[in-house]
Amino acid sequence: MTVKRFIAGAVCPRCSEMDKIRSWRDDEAEEQYRECVNCGYEDTQSTVVQAQSPELPTRVNAPHASAPETEEVVINFIPNPGMTKH
Ligand SMILES: [Zn+2]
Repeated sequence: MTVKRFIAGAVCPRCSEMDKIRSWRDDEAEEQYRECVNCGYEDTQSTVVQAQSPELPTRVNAPHASAPETEEVVINFIPNPGMTKH
């Protein structure tokens, strides 16, 4: 299924018009497409995010604590009716 949607705030690199860029992706081709409906500009990007070089010593050596608070945020959005005590 291909859904072409406009990218809010995106500026065309060719004609510099804002909100003229549509984007969609082809999962089979693993490509992400962009097109400008104003000037016909087209761009293709691969959606495949791979570890291009298996040897990244800086990353391996630096344990990156990437926000473990995701769970906490979710909890905050869940109202707990059982906790209401007045
Ligand atoms: Zn354009």
